[in-house]
Amino acid sequence: MNSVMWFRQDLRVADNPALVAACEFAKQHQGNVRALYIVTPSQWTQHDVAPIQIDFIERHVNLLAQSLAALGIALDVLHLHSFTDTEAALTDYIQQHHIDAVFAGSEPEINERRRDALLIAQGVPLTLIDQDCLLAPGQVLNLSGDVYKVFTPFSKKWKSIASQRAIVPVVAPAPVAAALMQPEAIVFECNKRSSEQWAAGEGAAKRILDQFLATQVADYQTDRDFPALEGTSRLSPFLALGVISSRQCVAAILARYPEALVDDTCPAKTWLNELIWREFYRHLLVAFPKLSMAHNFNELGDGIAWRNNLDEFQAWCEGKTGYPIVDAAMRQLNQTGWMHNRLRMVVASFLTKHLLVDWRWGERYFRQQLIDGDLAANNGGWQWSAGTGCDAQPYFRVFNPMTQSSKFDPDASFIKRYIPELATWSFKDIHEPKSVNVHDLFAQPDNQGYPKPIVEHKMARLRAIEVLSALKRG
Ligand code: FAD
Repeated sequence: MNSVMWFRQDLRVADNPALVAACEFAKQHQGNVRALYIVTPSQWTQHDVAPIQIDFIERHVNLLAQSLAALGIALDVLHLHSFTDTEAALTDYIQQHHIDAVFAGSEPEINERRRDALLIAQGVPLTLIDQDCLLAPGQVLNLSGDVYKVFTPFSKKWKSIASQRAIVPVVAPAPVAAALMQPEAIVFECNKRSSEQWAAGEGAAKRILDQFLATQVADYQTDRDFPALEGTSRLSPFLALGVISSRQCVAAILARYPEALVDDTCPAKTWLNELIWREFYRHLLVAFPKLSMAHNFNELGDGIAWRNNLDEFQAWCEGKTGYPIVDAAMRQLNQTGWMHNRLRMVVASFLTKHLLVDWRWGERYFRQQLIDGDLAANNGGWQWSAGTGCDAQPYFRVFNPMTQSSKFDPDASFIKRYIPELATWSFKDIHEPKSVNVHDLFAQPDNQGYPKPIVEHKMARLRAIEVLSALKRG
């Protein structure tokens, strides 16, 4: 009897229990094991997957094909027009290759979960294995058996459960047959943008993790908010595709800091918390399918009168708001496909609060640009910023872009890297762009070609608090 491992958001051979299960099934039944990846370009376009992320996926699928070939496993790639063609294509594939069992890692998004449920209901022998989070959705519940809606108690419970488990990544399966010939290049026929500035592969991800834990994690708490520093791991593109797993990350933390799950003074504590945020948002996505459908978590958010001014949104997208910290951040996103976390919070607050543009517009724009685009984290981050989310920032807390700028980029080195036209400006002018009259939006650029602020801070803050008070309960 034969099996197939269907790769989705787990493009790795190490710590991949579904791959191991597929190999064991074939071994037990003296059959063959194959591997499968399904490419759905029109679905990706519909879901706004960034061309740079598609390129990153393509590179990883090619690397995966090579790793699998060394294990004697052939990777088949099906190119489908759309997601809805999956069932027919998979059924054909199963018949063609005489497959008796399909193994895959479960995914948290609602469309993916519905697709899998339908396949199983229609008789596809699909076994799903939870390997997307270290603790699977549904395993971290409060005393009433409900999902946590606040991060801190979630993280405490998460750590207490994790501390009672052996956290040991599953080793890659042994070769099932002689190594296969070097696979042919796999090419996705769709809009892509080069991701070459990022190293690729499981080995690269592991090296980044090891290097970060050896040299940076202890300073993470102090460095992580400064975009000019290399203070964070930059593992998000790999975690988003499952090139490395959260279990591998946590196991690597524990190898250096065995007390990490139980000791709040552990130097790796803050970074571990970020991995737990990732899991928190994934658990929420599974528990509240409406999050996959762009609904406000807090239904009071449905009553917000967003301004949704197209010109202002465009200025934000292009990094031309006249607020250097916001513009440098957006240019970092547009140029590299990645943005520092502190800046994601700054620009999201600016869009949703200063400009009162619906968070869904920003979420979508991020998704269209990010190499680490991930529905759970992106939705969680945007709804947190807008104040509509679960455990969100309160609606009346409006980040002050001037304070954020002087506090987190004091010598303006990050800003000047992305806005060279400000090279000769004083720190004061950079951190405190001159206000314009409220009625003078989109004033002429100054003589260095850099735009004047498109909105006045004090007025915008008060306006945001008034409009977003729709979120006030009772
Ligand atoms: P590190 O600081 O090294 O953290 C390690 C890992 O923990 C990250 O790689 C990521 O997987 C996870 N993580 C860190 N912070 C968060 C967080 N706040 N929420 C969930 N997971 C987290 N992250 C994405 O991976 N994809 C997105 O599409 C995404 N969109 C965001 C949108 C907004 C508005 C905001 C405020 C945050 C968003 N984040 C997103 C979370 C965070 O900004 C990135 O994960 C982080 O900047 C990635 O850099 P890093 O790998 O160096 O992170």
